[in-house]
Amino acid sequence: MSVRNDIFSMIKEYEIIIIHRHQRPDPDALGSQVGLAEILRASFPEKNIYQVGGPVEGLEFLALMEDIADSVYQGALVIVTDTANSPRVSDARYATGAKLIKIDHHPNDEPYGDLVWVNTQASSCSEMIMDFYLEFQDELVMSDNAARLLYAGIVGDTGRFLYPATTSHTLEVAAKLRNYNFDATGLNRELEQISMSVAKLAGSVYQNLEVDTDGAGKVIISQDMLTEYGITDAETAAVVPLPGTIDEVLAWGLFVQQPEGYYRVRLRSKGPVINEIAKRHHGGGHPLASGANAKDMTEVQAIYEEIQQACQEFIKRKES
Ligand code: AMP
Repeated sequence: MSVRNDIFSMIKEYEIIIIHRHQRPDPDALGSQVGLAEILRASFPEKNIYQVGGPVEGLEFLALMEDIADSVYQGALVIVTDTANSPRVSDARYATGAKLIKIDHHPNDEPYGDLVWVNTQASSCSEMIMDFYLEFQDELVMSDNAARLLYAGIVGDTGRFLYPATTSHTLEVAAKLRNYNFDATGLNRELEQISMSVAKLAGSVYQNLEVDTDGAGKVIISQDMLTEYGITDAETAAVVPLPGTIDEVLAWGLFVQQPEGYYRVRLRSKGPVINEIAKRHHGGGHPLASGANAKDMTEVQAIYEEIQQACQEFIKRKES
């Protein structure tokens, strides 16, 4: 019996199921969370299924969250998707249910929960939810909206099927989802669309990008810049991939200053492994896409030096 069988048995056993995801949700967090919620609603109309975790800044076109009372957690099954570490789960009440399941595709640094299903080979947590559906499809129902959400999650986490985590299986799963009735072109457009303010910030990211001779890139976005361009921290997500479009850039960090003064760090790479750097600075993530925190400019500089070193070692290894 695989852990997926155990998860399915637990789902069938509970009347109340509450699904969480990580803070600052991206399309895969929402896609996997609400995609699963929609499949379960369509499959088990008699159960009470909730999707929670607070505002979904900028992604309201995908899904909205529900407000539920603390008492709903009594005797409930809680499922958390796309979240490697428990402090990142959005809404701390996730720990107050009767049972807890973790479903994720990040390295399993913290195997929290009664049942843990982690597949680091999956492009996205949404791909895993589709795998789960396909395995138990005799007893589960896929809705058009669930398909739309899972498709959005896969598109989001693969950078439109660009990143190396995109496998032939990812494409097979995406192809199956495309057979459902939703506006994939419109969805892709919504996922890619940026405001004029973000476009202007994008210009300044290219202008201010610092790159060393080994391809290590650094961009700092200060609170003053956010105020000047009139954009929120969440909107900076759109500019994170931009340095990677430059041929010279191998790995990069985007350091976004927070109102409290510390920096939220977003690391990306085309080869050098950067999640070990993230782990050393209160973060984590995938080998080629991670997040961390830097308390001040000294730590920003220290992280940049670690990116530089990772690039140097990567180039040396390739040459040897
Ligand atoms: P982001 O830069 O926020 O898009 O995150 C990239 C990847 O790193 C995602 O897979 C996140 O789950 C992970 N990540 C971001 N911030 C953190 C953090 N503080 N701790 C652990 N993982 C993180």
